[in-house]
Amino acid sequence: MTDNSDEGYIKFHYDWIPAPILDVDIDDLIFWRQKLYDEKLIGSYPNGIGYGNISMRYKANQFIISASASGNIKQIDASHFALVDEFDLDKNWLSCIGNLPASSESLSHAAIYSSSPKILAILHIHHKRLWNKHLYVLPTTSNTAEYGTAEMAYSIQKLIIEENKYAGIIVMGGHEDGLLIYAPDLNQAGELTLSLISSEQTYQI
Ligand SMILES: [Zn+2]
Repeated sequence: MTDNSDEGYIKFHYDWIPAPILDVDIDDLIFWRQKLYDEKLIGSYPNGIGYGNISMRYKANQFIISASASGNIKQIDASHFALVDEFDLDKNWLSCIGNLPASSESLSHAAIYSSSPKILAILHIHHKRLWNKHLYVLPTTSNTAEYGTAEMAYSIQKLIIEENKYAGIIVMGGHEDGLLIYAPDLNQAGELTLSLISSEQTYQI
């Protein structure tokens, strides 16, 4: 069991089997991760701490997600993804397989996948202006629910169940700049994210 804190402050626990993920096509994950990286929606802060991640459902509630601390990697490849094969929101714990351990924000993704079987892809981006603009306008998690906690996971789950939609946006009230975009398809999640950004740019002009 290992602790991790890739955004710097909250710890979660994981068991990790260091092995490549086999027989899964993750080309679309790599494609969209690079697009979001180019838009600086996934990346790293000047202090080197990475932010943002991307995932797709695998089987049942298992999912493949970008690895811990991979936000600052320029060109991601299959070795920067992990399969989360088990999790426990109450215990803030997960089990993963991959060359690197899963993102420390994986439990936010787990909360969404376990809320609706129709949701197949999730993006977690950081964007200051979008966060400020949509905070409490779009569905927003409690601002007392901090990143990487069971409270955040349950706060997300409650919103997803209330919204009862297969595609949407959640603002993470207790996680500055953090937004989650979910959809029944990775391309749809990616397009939804890019449309958010382009509407923001139009808005600015
Ligand atoms: Zn984040």
